[in-house]
Amino acid sequence: MSATDGTLHSACPLCARPEASEYARHPTVLWVKCACGLIYKKWTAEQAPATRPFNPASTAYSRRWRHRVGKSREQIRDVLNHVAPGPLLDIGCSLGYTLRAAQQLGMAATGLEYDAGVAAFCRSKGYTVEVGSMTAMPFADGAFQIVVMKHVLEHTSDPRAALREVRRVLRPGGGVFIAVPFGAYRGAVSQPARHKFFQPSEPTTGHAIYYTPETLSRLLGEEGYRVVRVHPHLLHRTAGVPRRLAQLVMAPLRWSIERLRDAARIRKEFWVVAVSGEPNRQVGRRA
Ligand SMILES: [Zn+2]
Repeated sequence: MSATDGTLHSACPLCARPEASEYARHPTVLWVKCACGLIYKKWTAEQAPATRPFNPASTAYSRRWRHRVGKSREQIRDVLNHVAPGPLLDIGCSLGYTLRAAQQLGMAATGLEYDAGVAAFCRSKGYTVEVGSMTAMPFADGAFQIVVMKHVLEHTSDPRAALREVRRVLRPGGGVFIAVPFGAYRGAVSQPARHKFFQPSEPTTGHAIYYTPETLSRLLGEEGYRVVRVHPHLLHRTAGVPRRLAQLVMAPLRWSIERLRDAARIRKEFWVVAVSGEPNRQVGRRA
């Protein structure tokens, strides 16, 4: 976000191609799509939305607490299929669903929030939450074994800086869980200029980039991560025996549903698990 004329990128933030085709245009926002598959906001005349005073009682996020904690627990177990348990950081921790889930799994949990009101609310509930951004985090190198980023990476126009910062606070071999909107979602692709993904003055106005498993995996590979899983695991190594038996019974059905959602492009979000390793720069930034 350097230029003052509202230009966010002069080239693709993934492959560095300067040219890109227009994808969705509004008077205040221009989205483009690169030949590499990345969809990014190239230009905006909009100011960052003013933060409204935080009121947990009025937000939809405060509803369905148990459901959200349960979903977070399953997502953490996806990571635990690949890395040992350890201190967990949730970036954009909202009301603390993932922090609670991590505690239920016996792990120390820390949250990061850019909204001081949300952070204060979490602290009042007994959670450890710091205020900061994903590109400048107030944590020591290697402080965490697991980092969770649910619907935060799409908000930055500099995802490489964010992923480098995450790798700094991760132990070598630590795991990261990333959930983002699915850039190839059928409803968005058919008429991008009309879909809410690309509208100005919507809650998604804060989005800067839309990913697919392919573009996100490439970005992670170039920033020193190894993608070990796309989409949910059907079986969790760390679940109890009754739960694993139930998962075994459900696995064929769940596998079929995931394939169907892929084929029909009817998932609105997707997630990946990646492990911190060495940067894979030989693939190059271009093409
Ligand atoms: Zn590109």
